[in-house]
Amino acid sequence: MKSFVGIIFCIFLILPIKIFATDLKWATYCESTDYKRTPRYNETIQFCKLLAENSQIIAYKEFGISPQRRSLPLLIMDKDRYFTAEQAHQAGKAILMIQACIHPGEPEGKDAGLILFRNLGILGRDTSLLRHVTVIFIPIFNVDGHERFGHYNRINQNGPEEMGWRTTAQNLNLNRDFMKADAPEMQAWLRLFNYWNPDFFIDTHTTDGADYQYALTYSLETGPNTDLFLGQYLQKHYIPAMEMYMAEKGYKVFPYVNFRQWHDPRSGLYSLPASAMLSHGYVAARNRPGLLIETHMLKPYKIRVMSTLELLQFTLKHLNDNYRDYLQINHQADTYTSSAEFRKQILKFNFTVSNTDSVMVNFEGYDYKIEESDLTGGKWFIYLPQAKVFRLPNFNKAIAQDSVLLPNYYIIPPEWTEIIRRLQLHGIKMEFLNQDTTLEVELYRLSNPQWSNFSFEGRNRLTVKTEKFIERRLYPAGSAIVSLEQPNARIIALLLEPLSSDSFLSWGFFNTVLEQKEYAETYVMESIARQMIQQQPELLVQFQAWKEQNPQMAKDQWIQLNWFYRQTPYFDQNLNKYPIGRISH
Ligand SMILES: [Zn+2]
Repeated sequence: MKSFVGIIFCIFLILPIKIFATDLKWATYCESTDYKRTPRYNETIQFCKLLAENSQIIAYKEFGISPQRRSLPLLIMDKDRYFTAEQAHQAGKAILMIQACIHPGEPEGKDAGLILFRNLGILGRDTSLLRHVTVIFIPIFNVDGHERFGHYNRINQNGPEEMGWRTTAQNLNLNRDFMKADAPEMQAWLRLFNYWNPDFFIDTHTTDGADYQYALTYSLETGPNTDLFLGQYLQKHYIPAMEMYMAEKGYKVFPYVNFRQWHDPRSGLYSLPASAMLSHGYVAARNRPGLLIETHMLKPYKIRVMSTLELLQFTLKHLNDNYRDYLQINHQADTYTSSAEFRKQILKFNFTVSNTDSVMVNFEGYDYKIEESDLTGGKWFIYLPQAKVFRLPNFNKAIAQDSVLLPNYYIIPPEWTEIIRRLQLHGIKMEFLNQDTTLEVELYRLSNPQWSNFSFEGRNRLTVKTEKFIERRLYPAGSAIVSLEQPNARIIALLLEPLSSDSFLSWGFFNTVLEQKEYAETYVMESIARQMIQQQPELLVQFQAWKEQNPQMAKDQWIQLNWFYRQTPYFDQNLNKYPIGRISH
């Protein structure tokens, strides 16, 4: 007969082995290769499906199709099996959205997320973290880029051995596409985001740039591109607790930095509010916490995966502990952004950073020397193995270059179909005129268009100058009326205000408005111009003045005669007129 002590001993002996065996069976691909490799698309999907089949609390779904016909995968984890947004919201859960492989060459988030789902969903560890939180996880966002797999996709990156490519099959960088939404993948993402309306969003990346000691840098938008109170809450409650937790786990972290002179830490640091074309800037503009994780490419892959995992775990715990705060603050931010109070504020955008205001910070870098390159004549930064703390100025005071007083409504003529469709992709609500209606609206006259002479994300960026004027204008049936009385008011304004660097106009959607399509032959205008001067002698004075102000143009006969043509009733009255009206009453 076995003794009681013996039985206890046996249980202790068997249990760890059993757990170990389960762990081994459920090792992720990355773990099973000792963090040397990251799984391909098919292996990832297979593992996701296996998790869902073997866990009561995990579901696998797909949220779209890529141009190369791959499904966009989504894992959902909810301890009450609330696998739809309606159920999760109704149950009062906070939704944590984690995204990986928007840049597939930077796959830490995929490998960390799979470990997180396996640990909670299969191994049953820390499931109390899911008491008030539903987690949705995109293991691979840019699925086509992910399968452009190889050794040579990220020069100088310390693992994994092979990885995917930065852009989509259409060579679009999804992390510049959140506003214009050109990529089918992004259009699917926007639908997903609208559907789940998450309470906290995390996007996972790897950064290159100068060498430093931090395994991970982060950016969490706290203003002025997001809701003031949300920003203050994150500043006070999330950031200090997160930095402390990461330090306890042995990971040095620091806010995501740029050096004022590329590669040269001694030149000082600067940081800017993120533009809404970027994931975390977009989410911030939608009144939600948007955390960017950037592990450092020179650190070993295992450290990058594990530090990402720790930050995911911290955020999950933090959100679970404070879920009521987040639900309330996010709701409050939505209510405020929809309110007349918000529209009374001047909306600021196109941020730059002050050159004079800075705070001193300690930056844990590596010593380095600068040599003059005998190959290029440039500066060659050579990092040395000695860790070094630099005392540096951090220029982080944001200055808005442009601002606008918001209207109550925008009105979009029906021919701008694509603008209306893309606004709807952003979850923006609108109504449509059911009959032709003449309305007094505020319009912009555009001038001084400057197109970039290079292509950026398939488009040549445009800047303009604007001048407001009032006009009674006929808007046909089918015109879209977009009220700013909705949580997306900031997104609406950033997309529709022509001065905004995130606007449809700046991405070239309205180029045709700036094209003169009717003109007069010079031989016709030579005689008409003379008749005009005869009837209105002051025209000649104005013409001479214009020539003096524009000596370059005055060299061109056609341009000079076009000046006269512009004064005739034949000239296109819609040229350079931004067609979207603003209604402020
Ligand atoms: Zn990236």
